[in-house]
Amino acid sequence: MSHSNRLELVHNQGWDERILVCRNGELVDTFIVVTDNHVVLIDTVINPTTAAKMVEFAQPYLTGGRSLLVVNTHADYDHAWGNQLFVGAAARHAAPIIATRLCAERFAGPKDVETLAEFQAKEPAIFDEVKLTAPTLLFDQTLTIQGGDLSLELFATPGHTADHLSIYIPEIRTLLAADAAELPYPFARTVDGLPAMRASLAKLAALEADYVLYCHAPVTIGRQLLNDNLAYFDALEAHCRQWLAQSPAAPAADDVALIAQLGCLYDAITPQGSAWAHVAPYYRVQGHAAQIRMMLEHLQKK
Ligand SMILES: [Zn+2]
Repeated sequence: MSHSNRLELVHNQGWDERILVCRNGELVDTFIVVTDNHVVLIDTVINPTTAAKMVEFAQPYLTGGRSLLVVNTHADYDHAWGNQLFVGAAARHAAPIIATRLCAERFAGPKDVETLAEFQAKEPAIFDEVKLTAPTLLFDQTLTIQGGDLSLELFATPGHTADHLSIYIPEIRTLLAADAAELPYPFARTVDGLPAMRASLAKLAALEADYVLYCHAPVTIGRQLLNDNLAYFDALEAHCRQWLAQSPAAPAADDVALIAQLGCLYDAITPQGSAWAHVAPYYRVQGHAAQIRMMLEHLQKK
């Protein structure tokens, strides 16, 4: 996938007007929440250029004593690689970056440094300027940003990544789920992340929010996606359990063969409808098979 520095505002399709949705091509949606006390940028996109465009969209609202705050939903590149704009001596728009403690720890480890080097080698025009910059205001489980008219309740939703957080705004019953749910399904990064991710999905679904926005799903898909994601993993688990109970041979190495072996086709365990039908082929075969392999490993570990 090649990346772009484009960032556009998505026209409002029914959510509260104080939330702006920013879109970086096909890659990711990020959010700006305007409250009486603060303008809160939720994520900083892929590099300083795209982060600066978020600030541009926020600028008209930075009046009347409102201060700028930044949140990282997690440390993945499409959510936190514009951080340098806000922290450090060279920061163009100094602001605290709020995230989980685990998110900050990722910036100290070698993994994301390696990822950055890989991305810079492939697409220098997009990633050369990125300097990994850790968030500065850290919490473990929950933190509330008191905006006056709106309160942003940040809470840990580990699974997709261990450092992931979501945001609920009770006054408008709106949930910013970030990457805790995705169309057609979210990915846990580790086997142990899989049960954590399903627990986080259940927690988000239980909020029964009126409006739910995601970083990688259509803006109009609503809270049903949370239940659809849960149902996908429930069905996947049922197929895997049934197959394991028959004490079979090793799972097939080939993705198509594995899916056939378990009788667990993508179409059979996802909802009908065009949003689900028109996903990239990856999600029907390689991605789906990867989920099956992870589920099998998880069940065998237990
Ligand atoms: Zn993402």
